[in-house]
Amino acid sequence: MFILTEKNQAAAVQQALRQRLEGTGVTVAHPGGEVLVLEGETFRLDGESLRLLPGVRAVQRLTEPYPLAARTGHPEDTVVSVGKARIGQDFCLIAGPCAVESPEQVTSIARQVSAAGAQLLRGGAFKPRTSPYTFGGLGAEGLELLCRAGRETGLPVVSEITDPRQLSLFREVDVLQVGARNMQNFELLRELGRQEKPVLLKRSFGATVTELLQAAEYILAGGNERVILCERGIRTFEPDSRATLDVAGIAALKEQSHLPVLADPSHAAGRRELVAPLALAAAAAGAGGLMIEVHDRPEEALSDGRQALTCGEFARLARRVQALTALLRQEE
Ligand code: PEP
Ligand code: MN
Repeated sequence: MFILTEKNQAAAVQQALRQRLEGTGVTVAHPGGEVLVLEGETFRLDGESLRLLPGVRAVQRLTEPYPLAARTGHPEDTVVSVGKARIGQDFCLIAGPCAVESPEQVTSIARQVSAAGAQLLRGGAFKPRTSPYTFGGLGAEGLELLCRAGRETGLPVVSEITDPRQLSLFREVDVLQVGARNMQNFELLRELGRQEKPVLLKRSFGATVTELLQAAEYILAGGNERVILCERGIRTFEPDSRATLDVAGIAALKEQSHLPVLADPSHAAGRRELVAPLALAAAAAGAGGLMIEVHDRPEEALSDGRQALTCGEFARLARRVQALTALLRQEE
């Protein structure tokens, strides 16, 4: 980290500043002129606060504020194993309904997405909905139905947790999902950092790539190394899709972090017609897998029916994605 100090600074001010900085645990070098070089655990320092110290003109961070999530110092890709899936190594398809609605619904979808090549089954039981009056999920019963469908089809299951107090209900759930709305729920992230299960961390629609990686850092800093990132669209001025899939963000995440990067084209698209094109774009941009909402009867879905693929549409998309990723692997 560089600090640019005021010109012609009095020696006493310079000395006080150096002492103050050294008090934070970093080493301070003064190669000459108005520049101070800070080395050590500079990720613990808040650049904004340093800027307020007497004699400081500017602060420039040179290393990432997320040392554990960063690819610097961890060049090889992290692979998270769940069931037979090697997320971060082999392309991975996660599919299932937005919300678990009934035993028949989740079992029927589980069978069909499994036959089409999905390696994990998704399904929400605790749904954070924009309106408090819409279907909020079946809660504990939903998790039970999801896990039962997963066992029956041999698929590990993914479901969203919205509060650390729900953890005991998630005992049988293989992957804990943190939804976009909770990406910066830091108490939840800290608690998941103490768990052994993989965490699928979705990007908030209002967060930068750096903020997503800092959220991942909370989980990693707690000792849980099994973090999977997921780009799901950010909010822009374009109303034609529900969100804007940040394709550049997928590539940037892969560049800046060793963690697996998935994409969720369903929540980015908001309508079924756009899901396949976005899924293919995400795969082409280097996403290590996709999470896709699928329903056996989208028109009757209790949430997100408009963006749900039918089981047949999912099977066709799975074939196209497999063809695309096979082609890309040949050219690597
Ligand atoms: C979901 O995956 O069910 C979901 C609610 O997505 P997001 O948190 O990305 O909106
Ligand atoms: Mn949904």
